[in-house]
Amino acid sequence: MTEPSLPAGPPSPASIARLPDHLISQIAAGEVVERPASVVKELLENAVDAGARDIVLRIDEGGLRRIAVQDDGSGIVREQLPLALTRHATSKIRSLAELESVLSLGFRGEALAATASVSRLRITSRTANDDTAWCIDAESGEITPAAGSRGTLVEVLDLYARTPARRKFLKTPATETAHAVDAWRRVALAHPAIAWQVWVDGRRLERWPAADWADRVSLALGEDTPVRRIESEAGGLRLQGLAGVPTASRSRADRQFFYVNGRAVKDRVLSHAVRQAYVDLLHGDRHPAWCLFLWIDPTAVDVNVHPAKAEVRFRDGRSVHGFVYHAVQQALRAVAGAGHTPTADPALRQTAWIDPIRPSSREGLFAQGRPAVLRDSQPMGLTGSGAQPPRAQTIAAWLDALRPGPEARPDAPPENPPQPMPPLGQAVAQLHGIYVLAQNDAGLVVVDMHAAHERIVYERLKLSRRARAPQVQRLLLPQSFAVDAHEQAAFEDQRESMAALGLELQASVEGHLAVHAVPAALAHADPVQLARSALADLSEQGSGQSLQQREQALLATLACHTAVRAGQRLSLEQMNALLRDMEQTPGADQCNHGRPTWVQWPLVEIDRWFLRGR
Ligand code: ADP
Ligand code: MG
Repeated sequence: MTEPSLPAGPPSPASIARLPDHLISQIAAGEVVERPASVVKELLENAVDAGARDIVLRIDEGGLRRIAVQDDGSGIVREQLPLALTRHATSKIRSLAELESVLSLGFRGEALAATASVSRLRITSRTANDDTAWCIDAESGEITPAAGSRGTLVEVLDLYARTPARRKFLKTPATETAHAVDAWRRVALAHPAIAWQVWVDGRRLERWPAADWADRVSLALGEDTPVRRIESEAGGLRLQGLAGVPTASRSRADRQFFYVNGRAVKDRVLSHAVRQAYVDLLHGDRHPAWCLFLWIDPTAVDVNVHPAKAEVRFRDGRSVHGFVYHAVQQALRAVAGAGHTPTADPALRQTAWIDPIRPSSREGLFAQGRPAVLRDSQPMGLTGSGAQPPRAQTIAAWLDALRPGPEARPDAPPENPPQPMPPLGQAVAQLHGIYVLAQNDAGLVVVDMHAAHERIVYERLKLSRRARAPQVQRLLLPQSFAVDAHEQAAFEDQRESMAALGLELQASVEGHLAVHAVPAALAHADPVQLARSALADLSEQGSGQSLQQREQALLATLACHTAVRAGQRLSLEQMNALLRDMEQTPGADQCNHGRPTWVQWPLVEIDRWFLRGR
């Protein structure tokens, strides 16, 4: 046997050369326009960005023969037609600062160039000031006068004809058409003020007239799907949308749409938050239908993290997660308590629809690019009677106000002083499995039991964390459970932070972890479930957050998972224990997400309902 001869030294260096522009575009095309549906998405988004009110999409032979988008938007002036096809040329941003607050769908200036590099592309466009349309042929660069009304027609012919390698990855025309129509639906849903048409192989498949957003969305979710309407605002965030009731869930997750500032995204933080809100209401393998629009200060979200802009990154993922979770949960649990399925709650304050392209409609939300301070919508459902529910006051203030002064009970026998009524009173009942009702000296107290309990657990965990040595409950027998790759990775990244909070996990046999200890405050919880939800949340949260942020997120997760759930029956004793805990917990009158956990309804107010003067 002869040894293979080894080269004498390292290989000589290959020379470095700049790729020609056309090749760069083709490489970019692999990411940006990987299939006909991606071309459709890019062209439709350009039409939306151009302020169109009427958009017609035509797809022939799965998009491989022709994709055409006609709009009635601003048009492109003749001199700029070549620039529209030039890589990294855009009319949408001018600087990095503008990128940070971008609200248009496009901003990289690469879609048309990339598409033109893998097809034959033509743009015919006419602005309000032109007396004719102009047509540019991407290949030759030639510009000729053409017929056409105001707006732009982009035609993409023979897609991928020159890149057979790409073509091989495509599915049948029918499948590609289906994907393209899905892509259209995702864009069209978020732009209700625009009228849309889709033609496939010469036949009209869809026609959506301009509509109110809720009508447009219910059309897409299925008009017979019972839904809850969500309109919630807090801390510069707004969530609007419809969420299907749990009983109308589906076996496939094909009717779930999430938008951030009008852009369709697939985001793990968001979808996790929504799934979490359904957790107690739905069996694991059922999929609810939802369509949700999150509006957020554009500087608080990075949209430039994915080639097709299908993902975003939030500056503060934890508060976005909490906000979305609570908004959806609040809407859904009303259903769980009431057992019926109204499509829209007329008591909800309806928020105006935002059109990111039209600055006037977004002024209120993002004044000068900074989050406007938004009024929190009344989450307690106590509106509608005409009487304003009083703001929750701090528990400390109530304590002071209600503590009997020396002259309050002059006749009380000193040897047997009557028990003063605690500030939050004595529990009398549970309402719809959601609220605890209690009677105190001032009248009626209504407590959001999940929010309040979550707050208490959170504060307990935080205290134990500050004590440096977390108070833990060791398990006599460590409990082992199987994990997937995400959970394993989250464990390896975060075992320290978890241990610091008292949740001790160790590697067990291959593909398994074992829980050795849980935080003492959570001793009653199922250790494996606790570990699972911590890992799941940690892997959703991703990195890029400081250790402290991650710890806080973990605390919140543990608190949320262990807190009593909507629908859980509590005995009077348990309810009273909750009230007493609230009185002991600092800041317990606000939940972890800034909403009140309880309100006081004064007796005088109730007397007034019955015209009962005192
Ligand atoms: P981007 O959308 O990121 O700016 P594109 O390559 O998609 O990049 O488009 C380049 C430019 O061409 C846009 O910035 C816009 O000025 C112009 N453009 C493209 N499509 C249209 C259209 N339908 N109407 C008006 N202008 C358009
Ligand atoms: Mg674009």
